[in-house]
Amino acid sequence: MSVVGIDVGFQNCYIAVARSGGIETIANEYSDRCTPACVSLASKNRMIGNAAKSQIITNFKNTVHGFKKFHGRAFDDPFVQAEKPKLPYSLHKLANGNTGIKVPSFFTDAERRSVFDATQIAGLNCLRLINDTTAVALAYGIYKQDLPTPEERPRNVVFVDMGHSSFQVSITAFNKGKLKVLATAFDLYLGGRNFDETLVDYFCEEFKGKYKLNVRDNPRALLRLHQECEKLKKLMSANSSDLPLNIECFMNDIDVSSRMNRMQFEDMCAQYLMRVEMPLKAALEQSKLSRDDIYGVEIVGGATRMPAIKERIAKFFGKDISTTLNADEAVARGCALQCA
Ligand code: ATP
Ligand code: MG
Repeated sequence: MSVVGIDVGFQNCYIAVARSGGIETIANEYSDRCTPACVSLASKNRMIGNAAKSQIITNFKNTVHGFKKFHGRAFDDPFVQAEKPKLPYSLHKLANGNTGIKVPSFFTDAERRSVFDATQIAGLNCLRLINDTTAVALAYGIYKQDLPTPEERPRNVVFVDMGHSSFQVSITAFNKGKLKVLATAFDLYLGGRNFDETLVDYFCEEFKGKYKLNVRDNPRALLRLHQECEKLKKLMSANSSDLPLNIECFMNDIDVSSRMNRMQFEDMCAQYLMRVEMPLKAALEQSKLSRDDIYGVEIVGGATRMPAIKERIAKFFGKDISTTLNADEAVARGCALQCA
């Protein structure tokens, strides 16, 4: 019997397995270690992961993604109500007041099952649920063979994880064979998607003036714009020059094009960038450490690849940041390790 660690992300999932003394992140049927958190329900079959992601635009009403934050939330929850108008699929209230996602009627069964029950459907025996931050700390512990002995002063490491939907910070003290989480802080509503949405808002406005297109009235076009904006955002992490955004046959047979560069983008996202410091400060205060007591700052999570995010973290701690851990796979690997 094998033990696996699963990182259930807002956008992506990773699975790591503990075997023959090591931790290995495993690949899916596409030989990809990253599996999109996406389920698509067609008339006769159900697709998950990469296959489902390819249906996001063609079958947008029945392709569900970005649902992690709906788990266990009441339909009337202000967060659910705020998200509702932005979704291509429709939400409705379940008999118990929880949030449900409406898909084809012959899948009423699927309506009732939340994704959590999916672990049972998949025949998995859930050994333990672990916080992302704890899992990351565990994953760090296996890499480092030179940790201080239990008698020595511990090594204090800050872990910063910004994913697609949320931002988490933890400070952990390490000795050989021992770790203690000293502090954790969050901004549960700050993540890569805020940056995508800022770009989407901007281009919707621009295309309204330039091409007289109401992108928000066309869910398919809006989804395509979302995908292109996320790609553009990633390109801007690697290039500071002007980059093009071109979408052919975008809406009403019109090809659209525009440009954007990193500096412009960072200006537009100032309100989000401002929020990076607060959880860092809260965690440092909670840990009762001073900046000099911090050995290193490790970043994980896809959104920490944005230069503006990295700069703010480095500046706050007055240290270069390290990327010892695989930014995408650290959570799953830590989970597999914990239960091995
Ligand atoms: P969460 O932890 O919030 O539940 P997640 O674990 O699914 O979400 P990750 O896989 O860590 O999230 O990160 C996904 C986010 O990182 C997306 O917003 C994606 O656009 C962003 N991202 C990935 N690579 C880059 C890059 N090179 N530049 C900027 N953003 C990036
Ligand atoms: Mg994550």
